[in-house]
Amino acid sequence: MRFNRNETLAWLRGRPGVPVLIIGGGINGAGTLRDLAVGGVPALLAERGDFSGGASAASSHMLHGGIRYLENGEFRLVREAVQERNRLLRLAPDDAQPLPTVIPIFTTFSGLLNAPLRFLGLRRRPAERGALVIRIGLAFYDAFAGRDRVTPRGRMLGREEALRRFPRLNADIRAAALYYDALMPTPERLCMKVLLDGLAAHPEARAVNYLEAIGVEGRAVRLRDAETGEEFMVEPGCVVNAAGPWIDRANAALGLHTAYIGGTKGSHIVLDHPGLMAAIDGHEFFFENADGRIVLICPLHDRTLVGTSDIRIEDPDAARCTPEEEDYFVEMLGRVFPEIGGVREGIVFRFSGVRPLPRASGRTGEIPRDHSIQVDDRLPFPVFSLVGGKWTTFRAFGEQAADAVLARLGLARAGDTCARPLPGGGLGVVPDDDEIRRMCREEAVVHLDDLALRRTLLGMLGRLDGERMQWLARVAGAELGWDARRQNDEMERLAGILRERHGANLLGA
Ligand SMILES: Cc1cc2nc3c(=O)[nH]c(=O)nc-3n(C[C@H](O)[C@H](O)[C@H](O)COP(=O)(O)OP(=O)(O)OC[C@H]3O[C@@H](n4cnc5c(N)ncnc54)[C@H](O)[C@@H]3O)c2cc1C
Repeated sequence: MRFNRNETLAWLRGRPGVPVLIIGGGINGAGTLRDLAVGGVPALLAERGDFSGGASAASSHMLHGGIRYLENGEFRLVREAVQERNRLLRLAPDDAQPLPTVIPIFTTFSGLLNAPLRFLGLRRRPAERGALVIRIGLAFYDAFAGRDRVTPRGRMLGREEALRRFPRLNADIRAAALYYDALMPTPERLCMKVLLDGLAAHPEARAVNYLEAIGVEGRAVRLRDAETGEEFMVEPGCVVNAAGPWIDRANAALGLHTAYIGGTKGSHIVLDHPGLMAAIDGHEFFFENADGRIVLICPLHDRTLVGTSDIRIEDPDAARCTPEEEDYFVEMLGRVFPEIGGVREGIVFRFSGVRPLPRASGRTGEIPRDHSIQVDDRLPFPVFSLVGGKWTTFRAFGEQAADAVLARLGLARAGDTCARPLPGGGLGVVPDDDEIRRMCREEAVVHLDDLALRRTLLGMLGRLDGERMQWLARVAGAELGWDARRQNDEMERLAGILRERHGANLLGA
């Protein structure tokens, strides 16, 4: 079954019972819907905005084991993430690409990967031992790939070799590490594919965007259509709260007071900078300063993505990339590639989001990154809250959530997603009219910003000027039945989002 918003809303008017209601259509909600559908259980997923519009739209685009989580001794997570990364490289080759990654190693700042050292009781060794530290880290990382290996082993590059390969790198480096992770070129499309695959796996599975869970009455959950204000009641066997950084707020709407999340904000900038693009030569660069601050620089189609910060924040809706974060990116970039200027002028897009991390005190870098499922039995139906959960591990986390639900419902699993490929198909930087029309028909497009920011790369890669926005509104409008006034409203809405959330003032460009 494909998305059919009107049909699903008509069905909801009958106050249906559903085995599972999933709140939230980011990657973890989508992954859980898919795993349940393949397992034989049809869920209804309600997303209050657009699919993949929350934390899932704010990632660094990495499918990674999380080499730096070794620092906190999170070996279980790193092993699972490396294995899931490898699985995606095999089962979703259009959406997961091997990414050679370089860690420059300096004499005076080599904080990264102290974990294996700590683990080995060598915590207080001087920073000059950076190369040794990183060599041990790579050995751990490679060991986790096990027999599953789909990427080459990591290795060290001497100073001369590193500078020969990357001549614009800071000449103060002592050495560099080269290892492999994976890049998601279009995460929002991957989330859409996960949803489409889930809907295809069970004829009664359903997912609706712009539908918010707002309350509980007796055995029913109240849902509100954000487009019309119409309300619906649905009676779930159980609820999966996959609201990411909004988990506690979604629980509060259901009348449950929880304090699971202590999110941190992370921002990124996207650069149109051919010089930087040439300097990194298709590699991710990953660098941690002695004070624990990190910068990653990686290729994203014909642009360069630079991030990210890690700052505590209370309200996930307030996350924006600030001028201070921008200064920090420019400064850190200057340390890795000191001769490269014009960074600020090259910014075409900014984005920011909140990691749904568990509530914990201490330094942000030390907050555990592993995921967990919290169960609440205070309502007439159990509520499973999915706390944490990275992009990389969405399949495993969805599987664990589905297992918990199946156990509670007393059902046996009909199938699993371990070796199930995801739908193929890449995406051009600027899609053509036919592609836009197909997305409008098949991919639950409700607003122009769904198309510009999540179904295509037009927004993120800074490809939207006034003319292109009009073209997009015209083609989408013809398919979705928007008259001239609605097209104008949609353009204004998109321009407002670009300006307010992404610091991209493109209407008149
Ligand atoms: C800066 C940053 C960088 C990151 N980089 C990486 C990376 O490189 N690799 C990686 O693996 N992971 C990365 N992550 C982590 C990853 O992006 C997130 O952990 C993951 O996307 C969380 O997905 P989710 O589905 O749990 O949450 P979300 O994507 O936030 O989805 C939750 C959804 O719930 C919806 N919702 C909230 N309340 C309600 C309600 N009442 N009713 C209906 N819907 C509701 C929201 O609108 C939202 O869409 C990064 C995260 C950040 C912030």
